[in-house]
Order: sequence, then structure tokens, then C-alpha cells
Amino acid sequence: MSIQVIINILCFLFGSLIGSFLNVVIYRVPRELSVVTPRSSCPNCNHEIKWYENIPIISYLFLKGKCSNCKQKVSVRYPLVELLMGVVAMLLAPSDFAITSLINFSFYFSVAAIFLAHLMIDIEFKLLPDKINLYFLLITIPYSIANLPLFYWLAGGLIGFLGPCIITVLFYKLRGVVGLGGGDIKLFGILGLILGPFGILSNIFMSCMLGSIVGLGLIVTKKMSRDSAFAFGPFIIIAASVQIFMPEFFAMINPFSLK
Ligand SMILES: [Zn+2]
Repeated sequence: MSIQVIINILCFLFGSLIGSFLNVVIYRVPRELSVVTPRSSCPNCNHEIKWYENIPIISYLFLKGKCSNCKQKVSVRYPLVELLMGVVAMLLAPSDFAITSLINFSFYFSVAAIFLAHLMIDIEFKLLPDKINLYFLLITIPYSIANLPLFYWLAGGLIGFLGPCIITVLFYKLRGVVGLGGGDIKLFGILGLILGPFGILSNIFMSCMLGSIVGLGLIVTKKMSRDSAFAFGPFIIIAASVQIFMPEFFAMINPFSLK
């Protein structure tokens, strides 16, 4: 077996384990519960989940997607998050064990995990939790300081934070409703630190376009009323995922490309 195959397998196992933890984060953080204690238990019968019932993907298959005690169905979301994080870790796998490769892997894998947690929590709770944004900020600042020119990340962060703030205030003055939530504005600000000034402008533009198209579609098809709450985070995250994880594709569609 080549070394790259071994690295890929290790990354998959690591990713699916983190996916298992991410399931805990997605369930507990929006409910303001600790992600450390107590041990996971069945929400239906409180049966404490044993370590061998908690092996990513495999346990779900062995238990046929049911609680071992009360046979209540377990959401397929759990093994899917584990599988997805395993695949993401494998796609981001470093090609060697050099320290910069490992740091890059840790950073980009963490960004992917944060994006998935934000995405799922925002869809369910219309909320981008401060705890997750704070963790995102704490890993991004040292990464940007080490890898990007000072002006680039500083300007990106300022535009990402202040731009949406101004839009929100203007929107409120004109329409009398709050457009973007605080979590959205903080997320734009942090993304600006990675994407830089032009990158964050592209992100704001693309996420607003995507959000407007989907929002209008939902209103027209009467799946949503004009003034009901609308999760905007997923559009920021979809746009940012293309920018960060598919840079070649993004270069082709970038509305702010100077070429
Ligand atoms: Zn149970």
C-alpha cells in the first residue's frame, strides 16, 4: 500500500470521528447544552450510549438505525454527517507529514466542520451560534497572520463586518425590518479575514443573489410568507465553500474577477 493510501484511510477515520463529535455540537450548541458532559444518551429513553454503540457509521448500520434499548429510530443525519466528514478529510488529506501540510489540513478541515455545523444549525434553528463563530475567529486570526499580507486580511475583515452592518442599518431604515442577523454579520467579518477584500465582496454579492433567488422562489410558491424568518447563513456558507474549496471553479464564475 502506498503511503498516500494509508494517509487517506487515516484521514477518513479521523474525519468520521470528528463527524461524530460534530453531531453532538449540532444537537447541543443551539440548545445551550455542554458539548463535553454528560455522555450521549437516547433522547427518547435516556439509555446511555456505550462506546461500541458510538462507532462512526458502523454502529448505525449494526443497530439498523435504532436505539439498542427502546428501538426508537435514530436520524440518518448522524451517519451521514460522519460519512461526509470522513470524505471531506480524505479529500483534504495532506500529501506528507510536513508541519505546514498538517497545519493546512487542520485549518481547512476545521473550516469545513464549522461550515457544516453552521449550515445544519441555521437551517433548523435560524441561528449561527456565537460559540461556533468565536471558535472560527480563534483559528482564523493566527492562520491569516501567518499566511496572508496584513492589509489583505485586515481590509477583508473590515469590509466583511462593516459592509453588512451598513446594509442592515439602511435596510432597517427603509423597510423597518432587520435584514441580516448578528450571526450572519460576524460570519461575514471572519470570512473576510480569509477571503480578503475582493473575496468577501464576491461572497456578499453571491450569497445575496442566491438568498434572493431562493427566498423569492419560496414566497412565489407560497412555501414562505414575506415576513417570516429566513436562514441566510446557508447561502454565505455555500458561496464561501466554492471560494475556499473549489478555487479553480470560483475563478471562472467570480463576479469581481479582474481578468
Ligand atoms: Zn432509546
